[in-house]
Amino acid sequence: ADEIKRNIVTKDLVLSSLPKRIKDSHKGSYGKVLVIAGSKNYPGAAVLTSIAAYRVGSGYVQLVTCKPADEIALVREPSLIVRGFEQEFFTPSCLPTVFEVAKNSKVVVLGPGLTQSDQTREFVLQLLKELDLPMIIDADGLNNIAENLDVLFQRKGPTLLTPHFGEFARLVKLPIEAVKYNYSLVEEFSKKYGVITLLKGATTIISNGESTYFNLMGNTSLAKAGSGDVLAGMIGGLAAQGLDLLSAAFCGAYLHGLAAEMYNLKEGTMLTSELLDLIPKAMEEVC
Ligand code: AMP
Ligand code: MG
Repeated sequence: ADEIKRNIVTKDLVLSSLPKRIKDSHKGSYGKVLVIAGSKNYPGAAVLTSIAAYRVGSGYVQLVTCKPADEIALVREPSLIVRGFEQEFFTPSCLPTVFEVAKNSKVVVLGPGLTQSDQTREFVLQLLKELDLPMIIDADGLNNIAENLDVLFQRKGPTLLTPHFGEFARLVKLPIEAVKYNYSLVEEFSKKYGVITLLKGATTIISNGESTYFNLMGNTSLAKAGSGDVLAGMIGGLAAQGLDLLSAAFCGAYLHGLAAEMYNLKEGTMLTSELLDLIPKAMEEVC
């Protein structure tokens, strides 16, 4: 009865899961994403994540970050709604503003470029406990909870974790070699903590502990700084349009990989900013 269903992510599966565009619609029909990302030293991650959320079709992307990412983001994409704290990284003093902004959001993407500190950890832990929206936790969002995984039991909304091997190794306290492509571990972890886990690699493994998906789309052009930030934003953008986090995760992973495969120059020369601009081509290819 508790047998796990395992599937490869196919074009047909993605096509049948993607949100439909409706003629009689408006930006509110496509959901609002709240991206909580960036710090003084890592502004770019916040920009990549936010724009990726728009690229997959969400109607409204709000970025809460620390200076100077707010201004950089607006220059790159003026349709972003941006709030930039003066401080160098997130601290608990940011919480009231974040809760206020989160009020009409559909989903939260937390983590890219946050950096790690005691105060940022406190901010992240409080947020996980008190904000009941669906949440995608990536990068330093994960690193900041690695010593406090029990906080996941206090989540009141659906939770997706998107670690790469190094981040997952830190979460489960095992060597990288023991976690690489270890789908049973991904399944057990997801079941234990009541979360969905997306373990990134050349093959990406996605599981909620009951169903597991393997994404084979993608290539080594993605082995570059920032590509995971784009993935997190894409998943957030899909979830804002009504996809459950599991479907958003496998559709996001597939489209992210497909976008990289659509780059038709020498593999490895693609910039992560160019990956953003290939998302439309990937979506066109699927639909
Ligand atoms: P991150 O390490 O967080 O920047 O995430 C890297 C992203 O690129 C993940 O979505 C990986 O699945 C993808 N990626 C990295 N290296 C490869 C590779 N060799 N083949 C396919 N995808 C890759
Ligand atoms: Mg990353």
